Amino acid sequence: MSSTSTQTQAPVMEVFASLQGEGRYVGQPQVFLRLRGCPLRCRWCDTPGSWRLADAEHARVATEGGPERRPTWATPFQAACWVAECEPREPRPVSVTGGEPLLWPGFLLELRDMLGGRRMHLETAGAHPEALARVAAVCDHISLDLKLPADLDRPESVGEGNLEPVPTDADSWTATRRACLAIVTERDAATKIVVVDGRRRGDYAPLLEDQARLAPDLPLYLQPATPVAGLEAPSIDLLTELAEDARDLDLEVRVIPQVHRFLRIP
Ligand code: SF4
Repeated sequence: MSSTSTQTQAPVMEVFASLQGEGRYVGQPQVFLRLRGCPLRCRWCDTPGSWRLADAEHARVATEGGPERRPTWATPFQAACWVAECEPREPRPVSVTGGEPLLWPGFLLELRDMLGGRRMHLETAGAHPEALARVAAVCDHISLDLKLPADLDRPESVGEGNLEPVPTDADSWTATRRACLAIVTERDAATKIVVVDGRRRGDYAPLLEDQARLAPDLPLYLQPATPVAGLEAPSIDLLTELAEDARDLDLEVRVIPQVHRFLRIP
């Protein structure tokens, strides 16, 4: 089935219950709804299998009775039913992650209504401000990445979904970052910077300064990269320096690694 048959379908990669491993709600039992498709190429990406729609034959739904395969293209109603199948007992907050969920803003808008009383959290790379502006009001929490352009390889077209142009250089990333920060400020939201080895303290200054100016109310999470594909975690010295730089700008900052990696859970 193709996404062109209805505007509100989205390609689901997996649905599962777990503990939130990052950010403001770290440790909270949630259900994760991972959508396929991402035009970005973060060098430290831990879910490259989510990038392409061509890989999308089935969704893996970890029901209480065991994992099941479902057609990957799902309506918001179908996705909400799968969420309910994965919940042990009481309804949980739902983290919509990816991939990049903002490729599918129409799906997110309808999903909100299908989730009933559950909170809907959005995890986004912050590369699609037009889509973010469309969905921000229906999200109960937004985790916004602040990307360092040097950490990304050239983007690749996904070919479907929201075709809003993605930033490709430092200047366009600056404009995009500022637009996204202006949208999420004064909401239940947080920012996240993944910090990798080999970077200098000053590399992150534009990100910190933009947040201090445009979204000073939001907590900032500095996340040391989980080593992958030859990239190493940053030194504790770099993390400490960045935390001090954030504090100097009066930002509420925390350094938290990916907790789910330590717990060896999805
Ligand atoms: S935005 Fe997310 S899914 Fe896309 S490449 Fe970066 S880390 Fe991977």
